[in-house]
Amino acid sequence: MISVSGLRKSFGAATVLDGVDLEIRQGEVVSVLGSSGSGKSTLIRCINGLEKIDAGKITVDGFDVSKPRELSEARKRSGTVFQLFNLYPHMTAVQNIALAPVEVLKVPRKQAETEARELLQSVGLTDRADAYPSQLSGGQRQRVGICRALAMKPSYLLLDEVTSALDPEMTSEVLSILAKLAKGGTTMVFVTHEIEFARSISSRIAFLDKGTLIADLPTEEFFSDKGMALPRVAQFLSKMR
Ligand code: ATP
Ligand code: MG
Repeated sequence: MISVSGLRKSFGAATVLDGVDLEIRQGEVVSVLGSSGSGKSTLIRCINGLEKIDAGKITVDGFDVSKPRELSEARKRSGTVFQLFNLYPHMTAVQNIALAPVEVLKVPRKQAETEARELLQSVGLTDRADAYPSQLSGGQRQRVGICRALAMKPSYLLLDEVTSALDPEMTSEVLSILAKLAKGGTTMVFVTHEIEFARSISSRIAFLDKGTLIADLPTEEFFSDKGMALPRVAQFLSKMR
């Protein structure tokens, strides 16, 4: 389980997350929605231990991300994919994917590369395995990014707007991979502006408004009268559609 309790995070005088409580259990797909600037990326970065938190506690399968000794265990369990494809340009797709399993998990290189090719096959990139990032389209790069996170066999996949830099065709390539993962039982925390897609794959929707989680509801309830009864949610959904 990922457990976030009483999380507060400020940048200077600006409070960006103001007492956030959120639990994500194995097998859930939780989408985090909210306007630009509401704190979604900061929340993901805090879960990943990339931001120092001001108050509260975040644990991943019991490992406290604020404790330097526990952070690497927490990180091994939560694979993260960001909006920008941060692949190493001097490494092929296979090499990018195999890197962390070899370096961190000490998997023999040959085995790691075989597994990398299997992952690439699962996202339809068998024939691009030996290409460098500059030789791949945006959608292909993002699929390699997802494979790179999956190569660590994480318990949780954290995805921060993985399609927002892509055109519609590339977006649908990537979303279909994510739908497949969700169906296969991968636990996901999914930050997105793709509302209809979030609705189709999520078990729950968490809605951030100016750093406060004002809704955390089963997907059906969020998109029903219950969600609409919250003025900020109603306003957000009317703008997004
Ligand atoms: P978007 O939908 O546009 O990606 P978001 O919900 O992901 O927005 P965050 O990136 O979490 O929003 O940012 C929340 C707030 O924190 C914003 O006001 C942003 O300007 C501020 N912020 C984020 N990172 C920093 C930083 N490193 N230093 C100062 N302010 C920051
Ligand atoms: Mg963001």
